[in-house]
Amino acid sequence: SNRIMLGPLVAAIDQGTSSTRFLVFNAKTAELLSHHQVEIKQSFPKEGWVEEDPKEILQSVYECMDRTCEKLTQLNIDVSNIKAVGVTNQRETTLVWDKQTGEPLYNAIVWLDLRTQSTVERLINKTPGKNKNHLKDKTGLPISTYFSAVKLRWLMDNVEKVHEAVLSHRAMFGTVDSWLIWCLTGGKNGGVHCTDVTNASRTMLFNIHTMDWDPELCIYFDIPMGILPKVRSSSEIYGLMKSGPLTGVPISGCLGDQSAALVGQMCFKDGQAKNTYGTGCFLLKNPVMSDHGLLTTVAYKLGRDKPACYALEGSVAIAGAVVRWLKDNLGIIQTSTELEKLAADVGTSYGCYFVPAFSGLYAPYWEPSARGIICGLTQFTNRSHLAFAALEAVCFQTREILDAMNQDSGINLSQLQVDGGMTSNRLLMQLQADILCIPVVKPSMPETTALGAAMAAGAAEGVSVWSLNPEDLTEVTSEKFEPQINPEESELRYARWKKAVQRAMNWET
Ligand code: ADP
Repeated sequence: SNRIMLGPLVAAIDQGTSSTRFLVFNAKTAELLSHHQVEIKQSFPKEGWVEEDPKEILQSVYECMDRTCEKLTQLNIDVSNIKAVGVTNQRETTLVWDKQTGEPLYNAIVWLDLRTQSTVERLINKTPGKNKNHLKDKTGLPISTYFSAVKLRWLMDNVEKVHEAVLSHRAMFGTVDSWLIWCLTGGKNGGVHCTDVTNASRTMLFNIHTMDWDPELCIYFDIPMGILPKVRSSSEIYGLMKSGPLTGVPISGCLGDQSAALVGQMCFKDGQAKNTYGTGCFLLKNPVMSDHGLLTTVAYKLGRDKPACYALEGSVAIAGAVVRWLKDNLGIIQTSTELEKLAADVGTSYGCYFVPAFSGLYAPYWEPSARGIICGLTQFTNRSHLAFAALEAVCFQTREILDAMNQDSGINLSQLQVDGGMTSNRLLMQLQADILCIPVVKPSMPETTALGAAMAAGAAEGVSVWSLNPEDLTEVTSEKFEPQINPEESELRYARWKKAVQRAMNWET
């Protein structure tokens, strides 16, 4: 047959909160050759609880892999050219499974989940001066429902099967990367139990200075260290695929989704920043510590002997999730793409402000008791205004983070690189430029998260089909959205948003 000669290919598994994707790139040109995507179900068993099924997550990976390989074969591309697979994943989402049976012992507790709010309040009250930043020097993080340690604590305290498995040394803890790599490298028959530094840095058990699990933090959360995966760099061979169409191919890249996007956007220089608009919204910038409610996170460590790089992160819990809420809970749109037209019909919120603090507020407030609010309603307000206000909320939340970053670093960002599912919404991109008063730059290939994981996998020692030298990296083509409204109007709207946020804070007290 007429097989197309392309040279080495590298694949990425992108396991996000709302969907799983498998993508195959040309390692020389970074061109996306084929991909497949499958939605992931979320369950909300109680108010504030968010769970996903670990087996469905794994199954979705196999399905995406199979479909993508079929598509490649149809394109006359030889699947055996795939030299490495990288993994990138929703971060913090917490799983525990039995290493003897390979069975998950509970659903995955998703990062957004609020069930640990009372545990978190208790932990904070125990610290000197009731300080949520008590562990920040070691971890870069405030004590919050967001990170894995408290979710793992909840599983050990509330799920009998987890408790028993821990006592009998059968329990394995992991974030989604660990679960997938363990399963794909053989599972109960010798699977590799590991994670990378970026995912580990989101658990609150990891010391970002020593770059390893911290015994004191494990004692603090009362977590036995034996259940933790081994921490590796983001770019090295962890193991080989043991089944499916890519059997024998090394898994050699692993990065939390936000770190992967930073790599995929080639933000390797100090002061560069990118914002990813998915379920939540995450702005990362190279590097420094924060006094303004931002996190310090491990950005990447691209090889065993390479240095770790850090990033300042502003996390927003609800971005695309507000679109899903308007669709599933209010039913004012049938699909997320309809939102743009609905909002564009009016082109203004008509003074309506929507603070979607469904899971409390993350950066820069870290206030778990905040709740959502829609204010400024009049007789005239309709669903188009509400749609517009929802999009504006995503932009205002990003502005708050950017302001905090500019204060922490003392340097004002001159443009913002963006990616993620929501960036297909052009109105959102324009609004973002208007509200930040700086240009917003979007790459023409939107799958930067997967690209970053593929780059890390392809560059690993022993694979080496992808160069990460800045001179070898192909310039990405992109589209630029310039601010179109005057800064005074932008400031006025932003000031109103801040007032609305104050109303959403401390809702329950
Ligand atoms: P994740 O990685 O968190 O799973 P994605 O980057 O895949 O997220 O983006 C999916 C999110 O983007 C969903 O929450 C969806 O509601 C939102 N979204 C997708 N397309 C649009 C659009 N055209 N306008 C607004 N929101 C959108």
